[in-house]
Amino acid sequence: MGAPVLMIPGPIELSPRVLEAAATAPPSHLAPSFVEAYGRSLERMRHVWRAADDSQPMVVAGGGTLAMEMAAWNLLDPGDRVLVVSTGYFSERMAEMLRRAGADVHEIVALPGESPSPHAIGAALSDAHAAGQPFRAVFATHVDTSTGVRVDARAIAAHAREYGALMVFDAVCATGGERLDMAAWGADVVLTASQKALGGPPGLALLVASPDALEARARLRRLPPLALDWHAWTPIWRAYEERRPAYFSTPATSLVLALDAALDEIVSPSAVDAPADRAMATRFAQHERTADAFRAAWAALGLSLVPARPELAANTLSAIRYPEGVDARLVGAIGQRGVVVAGGLHPAIRDQYFRVGHMGHVISREPDLLRTVRAVGEALGELGHEAPVEEAAAAFLDRYAAP
Ligand code: PMP
Repeated sequence: MGAPVLMIPGPIELSPRVLEAAATAPPSHLAPSFVEAYGRSLERMRHVWRAADDSQPMVVAGGGTLAMEMAAWNLLDPGDRVLVVSTGYFSERMAEMLRRAGADVHEIVALPGESPSPHAIGAALSDAHAAGQPFRAVFATHVDTSTGVRVDARAIAAHAREYGALMVFDAVCATGGERLDMAAWGADVVLTASQKALGGPPGLALLVASPDALEARARLRRLPPLALDWHAWTPIWRAYEERRPAYFSTPATSLVLALDAALDEIVSPSAVDAPADRAMATRFAQHERTADAFRAAWAALGLSLVPARPELAANTLSAIRYPEGVDARLVGAIGQRGVVVAGGLHPAIRDQYFRVGHMGHVISREPDLLRTVRAVGEALGELGHEAPVEEAAAAFLDRYAAP
């Protein structure tokens, strides 16, 4: 059967180059080659995020959860009013973190599979403004990994901007796979982790902060915990961008080498003769095409998605409802066929669906993608839901191979 293929929504399959970089003996954080790799990674984050030249890229050892915590503590004072756009499990985590950081948290909560409309978000911001109690910040999850729902990030950011609120996106399951235009959209913090669509191993928290976000930290009355404090870290990131080593807390050197390789794979197709924008456009199109092909395959197998409408369905993963008579045993039956997928995560519908990740390097590996479609189809058959496996594979290929 060969080695199992990892098709969960993170961590993901690594490319051979990234794997090789991750497996190098950890270099000193002062070694010239490491200084170069770290500095280059920070610079390239601006390309991948499409962030302004005066934005600050940030990399620390940790996960997406740590990146969320950093955003909460560096932007807000206790009592600041924040609006959380909740599309699932990770939005609720963000709300809880903000409450613990002392913010006055208001939520607009969508039913599982739905997203609050940008109009409703605009209205909430407008009402608060009119009442003389404006929101300091809006927090939204670009793709909520628990539902596979992608919000209309550009529209939400436009509303936040209109009412002078900082705009923060948890883009852990999006950055590197979903369209992102941080500067043009006017987002203030876009955060992620290394193990998803950027294509690295788990272990790094990554953020890009706008000048307004940095200004918000400078004005805080309450200091963040030292390990989370942008003011403790910023001189380090700036030094590495200037190709000087510096120390606050030992960087995860092997992981930074892997990140450097992963970012190189994302931006370098354009490095020779075109701006990095073109590489990003290609990458987004590849993720869209792959997601579209999977959606065609799921439809051919008689399956429906958790996202309520096509425009809400993320390109980085599929959240798929079990058909009548099938339950969570499907995940194990798919695993028996050498394809690792994930079960449900949203507490309200946990037992009703499963998740297939399709981001990063694996989306270029057609045989693994077809193997995934067939494994899902055959496993459905094993559990009594007869499904046209070869039709689904053909439907996949039809879209995947489209120019
Ligand atoms: N936000 C989202 C949208 C995520 O998908 C995840 C991870 N699945 C996190 C936050 C938390 O990231 P981590 O597990 O790296 O802490």
